[in-house]
Amino acid sequence: MSRVVVIGGGAAGMMAAIAAAENGHKVWLLEKNEKLGKKLFITGKGRCNATNGADMDVLFENVCTNSKFLYSAFYGFDNRALMELLEQNGCPLKVERGDRVFPVSDHSSDVIAALQRALRQNHVEILLHAPVEKICTEEKEDIEVPQVTGVRLQNREQIEAEAVIICTGGVSYPGTGSTGDGYLFARELGHRIVEPAPSLVPLETEESWCKELMGLSLRNVSLRMMQGKKELYSDFGEMLFTHFGVSGPLVLSASCHYGRRKAGKEGVAEPVKLYIDLKPALDEEQLDKRLLRDFEEAKNKQFKNALGGLFPAKLIPIMVQLSGISPDKKVNEITRQERVAFGRLIKSLPLTVTGTRSFAEAIITRGGVSVKDVNPSTMESKRVKGLYFAGEVLDLDAYTGGFNLQIAWSTGHLAGSSVK
Ligand SMILES: Cc1cc2nc3c(=O)[nH]c(=O)nc-3n(C[C@H](O)[C@H](O)[C@H](O)COP(=O)(O)OP(=O)(O)OC[C@H]3O[C@@H](n4cnc5c(N)ncnc54)[C@H](O)[C@@H]3O)c2cc1C
Repeated sequence: MSRVVVIGGGAAGMMAAIAAAENGHKVWLLEKNEKLGKKLFITGKGRCNATNGADMDVLFENVCTNSKFLYSAFYGFDNRALMELLEQNGCPLKVERGDRVFPVSDHSSDVIAALQRALRQNHVEILLHAPVEKICTEEKEDIEVPQVTGVRLQNREQIEAEAVIICTGGVSYPGTGSTGDGYLFARELGHRIVEPAPSLVPLETEESWCKELMGLSLRNVSLRMMQGKKELYSDFGEMLFTHFGVSGPLVLSASCHYGRRKAGKEGVAEPVKLYIDLKPALDEEQLDKRLLRDFEEAKNKQFKNALGGLFPAKLIPIMVQLSGISPDKKVNEITRQERVAFGRLIKSLPLTVTGTRSFAEAIITRGGVSVKDVNPSTMESKRVKGLYFAGEVLDLDAYTGGFNLQIAWSTGHLAGSSVK
């Protein structure tokens, strides 16, 4: 039996503690907040999209960074295993659109309560208000890398342990306690850190007209993200205009790829553009026919008054302005060339991305402890014996849909059950 300290009482930490305790170890779970699972509580708008019920290949497809690293973690403790654990501990689940799994009650607190029950049953010692300040290690003659010996808390108290699992999360929504402490611990012990950046985050744009559309949500549109000729992302769904740019599900997913854009020569990157296809169900020819028909019906109207069938009212003045066609022009005076160009604008409404919103608005953090310094079969550090990592602190991230929490559950479980 080993003494195991788990730092961070979020999704990954609670799971790591349960797994280590189930294997017979003496486990302390140290959380700096006044309660466990503060971020978990706000997930899924308070409903907690705990995982995704899809097949394994879909789980892997939805991981944006370092999916191969997750092979042992996902196969060792998959979405079914998580669902079984929650249900056995009194949290019945349901599957919604897109295989998203939620508690039947629609309360994230029930997921937390189920995990707490499992922690109690396995006699995990939970210390709240317990911020860890330092990981203690010692050099040993017979091994090449230092060995973990325990942790020191901010109140100077020390806990000795043969294994320490760092589950401190990233730096997004820092009010929940995820303030990047794990990066400092890891760096101090010689691990590489991939520069953290906000992800699953709204995007800011150069075009000021987005502000005029604030609150307008577009359904059934396509969004393409391009850097020069390279397509970074493309999908179909829903998006939203805001006072600074764009948000909504499509934009959040696209933001994962904004972080992967390449810097060009001399570090100057080509700008990243978004192109919204407002009528993805029609190709250019079909759209032109539709425009011809609409224009025929409104031939004596002014251009600005002829677009009611095509766009939501708020969008019309913007589309008119961007078309370069005079708003007062009679529809029957619009030339073929103008109409074709207008069709192209509808199929490819351009926006220039100037940046992301901050970590405070980012659902997850890209980057973190480099997976090159971690053994994917155990989550143990390659640089310190007895030190493990799990969850968002690692350089792993996924799309929305329950996939980020599944990363936390799977890596947490693997780390906890790998302790010898
Ligand atoms: C608004 C929002 C909604 C989300 N919704 C979903 C969703 O529905 N589905 C989904 O899959 N993902 C969702 N996510 C992402 C998901 O919440 C995270 O990926 C996941 O919580 C990461 O778990 P973790 O345990 O690695 O880190 P965290 O949950 O961040 O936990 C880290 C814990 O470590 C503690 N800690 C940090 N430093 C120390 C220290 N020095 N000493 C002691 N304790 C420390 C922190 O207080 C914190 O409790 C959402 C995220 C946000 C912000």
